Amino acid sequence: MIPSFVSLVRADNPGPMTLEGTNTWIIGAPSGALVIDPGPLMQEHLDAIALATDGKVAGIFLTHGHLDHSEGAQRFSEMVKAPVFARLPEFTSKDAAPLDDGFQINDGEVTFRVIATPGHTADSISFFAEKGSDTGDTGLFTGDTILGRGSSIVAYPDGSVGAYLASLRALSAMLGSRSPVPLLPGHGPVNESSLPVVDQYLSHRLERVEQVRAAMARGITDIEAITDDVYAGLSENLKWAALLSVHAQVAYINESA
Ligand SMILES: [Zn+2]
Repeated sequence: MIPSFVSLVRADNPGPMTLEGTNTWIIGAPSGALVIDPGPLMQEHLDAIALATDGKVAGIFLTHGHLDHSEGAQRFSEMVKAPVFARLPEFTSKDAAPLDDGFQINDGEVTFRVIATPGHTADSISFFAEKGSDTGDTGLFTGDTILGRGSSIVAYPDGSVGAYLASLRALSAMLGSRSPVPLLPGHGPVNESSLPVVDQYLSHRLERVEQVRAAMARGITDIEAITDDVYAGLSENLKWAALLSVHAQVAYINESA
């Protein structure tokens, strides 16, 4: 189910937001591995990635700047002497350029492409990788834009519901013309086909927006009261995440009113 040229090293940082831990993805390419999200600054984890790549790394790529994905990047960069690439300059190595939508690497049979997918955060990007052409040996690396299970949060005010919906629609359109592309998320299990998950995320988010809109129409205006209404029965340790998402949705509804 994982593409033939990809491997996974999972960090030991489980939690309500990180699920089983941060997934560090390694793409095997002739000039050296491409490492996606070295994860938290945990030496054991960084050692495990270095071991899995034989220390031969061409580049380190971040799906976004949240610490559970990015914190170990600098140390890992020093360990394997490879540059860090991210959407934002502050996470990118000095001698490297920040990543733009459409940026592509072709290394032998392996192609690797950046897809801007803002929404969870403004700097969120996804990566599409393929070995050969038309072999169906592909993978979509989604960071926190789409998780292996459950739903992602829109981290207001940096994250934006309008941007998130547009990103999900763009992914859906891109995937619609392909044979199933495995979903390789930043947290949680692999899914054998990305498209149904992307479409599920899209309908879930639209449904939440409608629930928030309905609560507002009933005269509930306070963010916390809307959250209690829409996310009834949510456990306390996830409530802050729901508050952020509700805040983002209220902003979206107000913008598009
Ligand atoms: Zn995140």
